Amino acid sequence: MSISRFGALDTIINRSNYDLEYVEIPDSKISEFFGCNVFNDKAMQKYLTPKAYTEVKEAISTGQKLSREQADVVADGMKRWAMEMGATHYTHWFQPLTGRTAEKHDSFFTLTPDGQVLEEFDGDTLVQQEPDGSSFPGGGLRSTFEARGYTAWDPSSAAFIFEVGEGRTLCIPTIFVTYGGESLDYKLPLLKSQAYIEEAAVPVCQYFDPAVTHVKTTLGWEQEYFLVDEALFNARPDLVLTGRTLLGKHSPKGQQLDDHYFGSIPERVFAYMRDLETECHKLGIPVRTRHNEVGPGQYELAPMFEETNLAVDHNQLLMDLMDRVAARHKLRVLLHEKPFAGVNGSGKHNNWSMATNTGKNLLSPGKKPGMNLRFLTFFVATIQAVYKHADLLRASVASASNDHRLGANEAPPAIISVFIGDTLTKVLDDIEKGEDQGISGVKDILDLLSKIPNLELDNTDRNRTSPFAFTGNKFEIRMVGSTMNCAAPMTIMNTIVGKQLKDFYEEVEGLKNGGKSQEDAIFEVIRKYVIESKAIRFEGDGYSDEWRDEAAKRGLGNTPNTPDALDAYVSKSSKDLFLESGVFTEKELDAHYEVMCENYILKLQIESRTISELVLNHIIPAAVKYQTILAENVKTLKEAGMDESSFEAQKEILTGISMHINGVKKGVDKIYAAIEAADSHEHAEKQAKAYATEVKPVMDEIRDHADQLEYLVDDTEWPLVKYRELMFMR
Ligand code: ADP
Ligand code: MG
Repeated sequence: MSISRFGALDTIINRSNYDLEYVEIPDSKISEFFGCNVFNDKAMQKYLTPKAYTEVKEAISTGQKLSREQADVVADGMKRWAMEMGATHYTHWFQPLTGRTAEKHDSFFTLTPDGQVLEEFDGDTLVQQEPDGSSFPGGGLRSTFEARGYTAWDPSSAAFIFEVGEGRTLCIPTIFVTYGGESLDYKLPLLKSQAYIEEAAVPVCQYFDPAVTHVKTTLGWEQEYFLVDEALFNARPDLVLTGRTLLGKHSPKGQQLDDHYFGSIPERVFAYMRDLETECHKLGIPVRTRHNEVGPGQYELAPMFEETNLAVDHNQLLMDLMDRVAARHKLRVLLHEKPFAGVNGSGKHNNWSMATNTGKNLLSPGKKPGMNLRFLTFFVATIQAVYKHADLLRASVASASNDHRLGANEAPPAIISVFIGDTLTKVLDDIEKGEDQGISGVKDILDLLSKIPNLELDNTDRNRTSPFAFTGNKFEIRMVGSTMNCAAPMTIMNTIVGKQLKDFYEEVEGLKNGGKSQEDAIFEVIRKYVIESKAIRFEGDGYSDEWRDEAAKRGLGNTPNTPDALDAYVSKSSKDLFLESGVFTEKELDAHYEVMCENYILKLQIESRTISELVLNHIIPAAVKYQTILAENVKTLKEAGMDESSFEAQKEILTGISMHINGVKKGVDKIYAAIEAADSHEHAEKQAKAYATEVKPVMDEIRDHADQLEYLVDDTEWPLVKYRELMFMR
């Protein structure tokens, strides 16, 4: 039985006395319970021996493995902590290429052969597990005789306890690999890229400060999402199955008035946010900011930034928490990049920077002019890296759902460009022109930099149309989709900037060997990068047609669809880069590429089948019913001897309805033929491309006719929850 639109509307109307009773907000200060469900430093000190504690800390900071004995001690402490917290089960928590997280729970409890009942958890179980991985995407990395996948502990991200109702589970963050150690997940490449950029950045940092021995990257994400009422959600099969509305006439009022952005948060949503934030804080996720976004029913949540690996884990956890907490409030979270046509989609801006063990943000222009040469080095190297590898960055955010944002009349375009603001543009332009601007060397440029105003202030009125913007002390990568695992774009950022820093170091050393002073050598390489990468810098309106033309002239890539964008992963230059950096092996890269293609195909398959069923089972029956009423009306009037002109309107509507019924039906036939043709290709790459060019456009054709029917058909006959209801009723 389908859930009717009117049943859902009844439910939501009768829910107006929304019961907030079950929302438990602790009355203590956040600082008192922050991280209480995390096996953090405080818990480790309490549950580990001083020796084990020191060893774990050491292993975390150096990335070295713990011995079997050491792991046993940690496992024992972790188990005691978790059980005191009420956990009964544990799981290796990992991030397969499906995009969300996976877990398989095992109980601490065991029976020994002689019948004793024990709670057990040792070093082996902590360090490695073998979940049945055969159902996770592997892109052919595992042949069937070796279908197993292994999870291995990542000590750099703390274990935590996840609460579901009364149940508590100890979750151990892990990587997910094949028997041969090839990555089947997002985390392993990320960790490798972190190691790579650190190795590249430290020697460069030492030009400026010999005390720097470690560099890590930092990530602060901003998560956008929509909320809809659960009853309305359940009455839309397309939302349930695909996460977005495949059909739906635009609501007369959408976001035109901009009255939602930063507006007051509705009470019911506020209760949800508070509840969600509490859950986040218990898990040590430092969320701080919440506000309404532009779309009606759209919101945003942002934390304080953290080391990238941890921030990625926290975002993955957050997405899980969002769903669970929403269910308590009879709401549903739409994480999809474009749940509604005609209103803004959702992204997940990734704010990225690099930080040293001496506590310095490498993208923060310093107060002391001397330090600004360091700032310029990292700033310009990042721009140069993005210039050289824009296609890879684009590929890292490619997905079927993000295609509805990038380049589709919306923030941000599929063309990658870098926005840096007026002040820094002037600085880089002056560096480029060199002596014409009275800049002949380092001293002049530092003088110039010391005179520039506060950049963060300069950037407050920043360009929102740019996909990659410098915002005062970090780069903000705005192409990332709201459903995505941030690890993919972060892995690319780390790898391309790492490679650029290696090149930078070599070039500077080369010039030094040729007799240049270190400062002059650095300045020369910076200047070279500024000139080379100029084409990627753009300060204007990224949505305009003029920019599209201008970008093409500059030779910048513009790949609005995923299958084309993904090609960059497996190009010769990418392969060279990944092999050199050790972030992916060739086999891993081919497999990841294949999985991305497959994900794309599957998403489009599900969508095209869903839209067809909606048309055949919901839309056509409703339209035919109204068509019959109109036809009978016309017939009756005619028989009553009425003049043709008296039922002109009815006839006109009838003609429209008949035409669009034919239109949707033809669309369905066409899409099935297109699916069949696409599926007949042997390789995932060809299939994906056929879905993009042959199947996807037909969905738009079907939608046009279906939305016209929604416009024409009697509201009391229309079976699908309408946009105005989804967006404005709560
Ligand atoms: P916006 O105007 O885009 O919302 P905010 O100033 O609120 O910008 O900051 C957005 C995000 O940037 C936050 O998640 C914050 O933690 C993050 N951020 C700030 N500094 C850094 C940094 N050095 N590295 C990474 N992320 C950072
Ligand atoms: Mg932002």
